[in-house]
Amino acid sequence: MRYYDIAVPIDKFRNFTYKAREEMDLRKGSVVCVPFQTKTLVGVVMGVAKSYTNAKEVKEKIMDLPLNLYRLALWVSSYYLCPPGIVFSFILPPFKKKVHKIEEYQVSTKFLKLNKFQEKAYNSTKKAIDMSYHKTFLLFGVTGSGKTEVYFRVMDDVLMKGKSILYLVPEISVIPQVLERVRERFGMGEEYHYKLSKGKKYSYWMNAFEGKLKIGIGSRMSIFSPFSDLGLIIVDEEHSDSYKQEEPKPRFSARDVAVMRGAIEGIPVILGSATPSIESFYNAKKGKYVFLELPKRVKGQAMPEVLIVDPGRNIFSKEMDKAIKETVNQKDMPRVILFLNRRGYAPYGKCYSCGWSARCLNCDISLTYHKATNTLICHHCGYKMDKVINCPRCGKEVAYFGWGTQRIEEEIKAKYRDYKVQRMDTDSISRRHDHERIYNGLKRGEIQILLGTQMVTKGLDLPDIGLVGVIQADTAINLPDFRASERTFQLLSQVAGRAGRGGKGKVIIQSNNPNHYAIRFAKEHNYEGFYEKEREFRKSAKYPPFVNLARILIQSKKEEKAIKTAEKIKRKLQESNKRDSFTILGPVSCPIGRIEKNYRYHILLKSEEEYLLQRLLKELYSLRISGIRISFEIDPVNML
Ligand code: ADP
Ligand code: ZN
Ligand code: ZN
Repeated sequence: MRYYDIAVPIDKFRNFTYKAREEMDLRKGSVVCVPFQTKTLVGVVMGVAKSYTNAKEVKEKIMDLPLNLYRLALWVSSYYLCPPGIVFSFILPPFKKKVHKIEEYQVSTKFLKLNKFQEKAYNSTKKAIDMSYHKTFLLFGVTGSGKTEVYFRVMDDVLMKGKSILYLVPEISVIPQVLERVRERFGMGEEYHYKLSKGKKYSYWMNAFEGKLKIGIGSRMSIFSPFSDLGLIIVDEEHSDSYKQEEPKPRFSARDVAVMRGAIEGIPVILGSATPSIESFYNAKKGKYVFLELPKRVKGQAMPEVLIVDPGRNIFSKEMDKAIKETVNQKDMPRVILFLNRRGYAPYGKCYSCGWSARCLNCDISLTYHKATNTLICHHCGYKMDKVINCPRCGKEVAYFGWGTQRIEEEIKAKYRDYKVQRMDTDSISRRHDHERIYNGLKRGEIQILLGTQMVTKGLDLPDIGLVGVIQADTAINLPDFRASERTFQLLSQVAGRAGRGGKGKVIIQSNNPNHYAIRFAKEHNYEGFYEKEREFRKSAKYPPFVNLARILIQSKKEEKAIKTAEKIKRKLQESNKRDSFTILGPVSCPIGRIEKNYRYHILLKSEEEYLLQRLLKELYSLRISGIRISFEIDPVNML
């Protein structure tokens, strides 16, 4: 018998010793079934152990993880402060019996001749591909500048070398389009994301593991695909917040894990974006990443002209009104997209007589009035109640105000009776083929004005868009989050990029803060200008990329308890002998002070020292207090 330390999926930083027959041939990274209390768990071998009389026996060996994937999991465990057994259980698929064979597809597109910028970007990656070494490239190019075409050319070289490719996209909704393009070009490619059935997940995983699958396309979890011959990782729209996982653990950033995987595997990584994250651009400027740029749109189209107007208290400014009419009636590119980042009818309800406001019973959030169902809904926890007509406190009528997509739709229908309007948000659209219906509708003129939330800014390469109107650019700009400006800039740039793919388009941004730098630089399509300004702010206020950041979130149904625990954690942190090397902010109530009946307090930690925050937090990891939920997050993205 031999003895091994094995990580099992329990929320503690400790392994357990098991014994196994020599013939089982276990090594670091072997996936095994072990008895644990009354259950059987899937665990992973972490190393050999000293003999131990009470050790139970390993039941079965399932497989050996690729060694590099095993190493990556250990890095994720220590960097993101998540017990290894939990990282492994997140990575491993639901084990099944049957593996579906992967399909082959008809290759149909011919190669495009790259333009000189694409050629240059492509050539820069060539050496790293040929010689197979690690480098991270930041491919900076506006929408329509031909980034995908560059990826494809590099992918082609990687496939020629017999290696595999991981292609990450930020959201499940864009997978079908990328999948279609990849299959058309390479005759293969499979998807991986959490919405797949267990059978499909398992098939993808085993096909990648056995080297039968050469191209994996997926959302953030696919970064852990078990390829053992990986040659390239692509992270498209690398700035997207969707690459950050908050629940379940591990709380990782797939973009950052991709860069680490590239280093472990010794392979190139390409991060692509029209609006790179401040962190990535900073790394490129510093020379840590190789900077590649596609400064022009492929078809030579000009960037759309952007007009900023302050609509005051109106929903449509005069300029917007005029532009909508003009666009719908013009011959070329007669379609309009209107964007508002708020669904529902009215986001606030208030009694002006006594001050009562419609708030969620469980969360510290105002309820949104949805007219179609005549209900008030909490967009955080989903709590729903009938519309409140008379104030429960004083009986006067409650006023519903503010603008959501449903209300804009109603307004447009009243204002422009003859125009065909389609609303697109999570309340009106659910299934995949709805996207296709909308695309075709715009093409055929069955839809003239498309109105919607974020959904209209992503994925679809919509045709004939002569005008993009942003109804209210300020919804995110004043949030208490150090990334508020960055998000606003990214969002506006993306929406603006929807205009005029086929020629010259126009963008109108309505804002009550028309002089805010995020809005001004978005108007000028000036990423670098924005970056410089934002960089200054991050530097002086000490935020990433200039410091490492961690967040401790303390939640409890009892507010007193949450406060006490937060104070206790702070005291413990203050006792550290490294006290001079980090800053503690808080504890304070989170900007959203209560969600689903839990009071929320947080502490932010900043440090310039690598791994210090991890070490500090690891000492607190075993802290357990009944009725309290404590979570630790490294490089937090959500600050609310
Ligand atoms: P991005 O990914 O930067 O948005 P794409 O790679 O999707 O850009 O390219 C935008 C459009 O331009 C696509 O329809 C693509 O087929 C076309 N395209 C890209 N590169 C070229 C090229 N070198 N010559 C002609 N058309 C191109
Ligand atoms: Zn009242
Ligand atoms: Zn709620």
